[in-house]
Amino acid sequence: MSRHHPSPETLMCYAAGSLPEPHSLVIATHLSLCAACRADTAEMDALGGAMLEDLSPTLMEPDARDRLLERLEEPEVPRPAPPPSDPVLPSPLRAYVGRGIDAIAWKKLGRGIEEFRLPIPGGDTYTTRLIRIAAGRDVPSHSHDGDELTLVLAGGFTDGDQNYRRGDLAADADPAVPHRPVADADGACICLIVTEGKLRFSGPLGPLLTYFRG
Ligand SMILES: [Zn+2]
Repeated sequence: MSRHHPSPETLMCYAAGSLPEPHSLVIATHLSLCAACRADTAEMDALGGAMLEDLSPTLMEPDARDRLLERLEEPEVPRPAPPPSDPVLPSPLRAYVGRGIDAIAWKKLGRGIEEFRLPIPGGDTYTTRLIRIAAGRDVPSHSHDGDELTLVLAGGFTDGDQNYRRGDLAADADPAVPHRPVADADGACICLIVTEGKLRFSGPLGPLLTYFRG
């Protein structure tokens, strides 16, 4: 059971379909692994639909209400489709990766760190990747200023007094505060990471990417 969840605001944006596609994918993958957030999101969907049902048609353009209701019923964002069909990659994520976890062609970055970039729209704004870090590896203390989401898919890591395991979402509460994440010792830690900015590698594992890329 997950212990670190998206904020209610993030879930609201997800339910409304207003998150960028990479972030939607991260949240959809978290929802595949988190019954509590699935229930919260279902409530938000129901509430949003009920609010639209209550709107007086005269307040909206002809057909606008129907279009909005249709959009709620046919979301364009990725949605969870449990049960997971891969031991590591839940269905929404596997659809983007295009293969099972055992078939991924990891690119070695050094020091026990590997990456696989997802072919996901985002252009120069976001980078979406899977990262695999060897058991017990630590990351030098660092700080950063980028917007980033990290979702644990296998293994785990500890950052300060917080431990993150499969299904847990790490978002930057205060990215300026230095931290030093350490991968748990019980196996490789695999994460899905969305980073804002083409060359801005930040977050728990990001500085390593910068280090080994240079
Ligand atoms: Zn959750």
